[in-house]
Amino acid sequence: MTRPARVDRHVLILGGTTEGRRLAGGLSAAHPTGLRVTTSLAGRVAAPRLPEAGEVRIGGFGGSAGLADWLREHAVDLLIDATHPFAVRITANAARAAGEAGVPLLALRRPGWTPVPGDRWHPVDSLAGAADLLPGLGSRVLLTTGRLGLESFAHLTEPWFLARTVDPPTGPCPPRTTVLTARGPFDLDGERALLREHRIDVLVTKDSGGTATAPKLTAAREAGIPVVIVRRPEPPTGVPTVADPAEAVARAGELLFDVR
Ligand code: NAP
Repeated sequence: MTRPARVDRHVLILGGTTEGRRLAGGLSAAHPTGLRVTTSLAGRVAAPRLPEAGEVRIGGFGGSAGLADWLREHAVDLLIDATHPFAVRITANAARAAGEAGVPLLALRRPGWTPVPGDRWHPVDSLAGAADLLPGLGSRVLLTTGRLGLESFAHLTEPWFLARTVDPPTGPCPPRTTVLTARGPFDLDGERALLREHRIDVLVTKDSGGTATAPKLTAAREAGIPVVIVRRPEPPTGVPTVADPAEAVARAGELLFDVR
């Protein structure tokens, strides 16, 4: 294995996730010279957690054509889609733009959660499907599907919602909603206490995967509470995908420097 002493390469990470932040740190540590790492954030969150290393740009590109232009203009050698599994538009744009600009694309996608004995999961395909199911399941809901998804539940007048979001919602909410602004990671003791204090009898979540927000599932299982879980959208086909930042660093080394 020989690594060139100095080869200038540029990686663009589409971020907004814990894995994306770590990947920026991992790539910079693995290639302290010769690699420029830029992370792109959508700008949805008022005070985003910044990547562990490298440069940051914030805001949309203007669709796949805008992203393809950015890749060309900034001489990007590798695009890594480390966005959230439910961020379908940017993921589709990444696949199109990479093809258009002739830049290799790697996806970093954390695995989804899997139920264990004792879980009372109700998988649904969408937030609308979750809203349809809710009235039969409970009346005090912990809703953790993000502030932009609250609108899907706004027509439900009966249940009381505890909506946990990073920033306060600005759009339509169900009439009986209390907002709790908080950002993970969340620990098990805290999640147990939250369910107990608010007498939660149903949890709604996306199948985000990862450890940072998983304790709510354990707390729900222990309390015998049903969980409405929104299935992941299908990712684009044919994109090489890895499951964690360390794997992504290794694959990026191969793709950029032929390091094996
Ligand atoms: P989305 O619906 O897939 O994307 C909508 C638009 O936002 C895209 O077309 C793009 O605008 C812009 N965008 C999204 N991610 C971007 C990025 N990393 N850098 C630059 N522009 C980006 O995305 P979303 O679901 O709203 O998620 C937005 C961000 O929040 C993502 O970075 C994602 O990783 C993070 N996030 C999402 C969720 C979730 O549940 N969806 C949860 C946690 C974190 P242009 O077309 O103008 O380029």
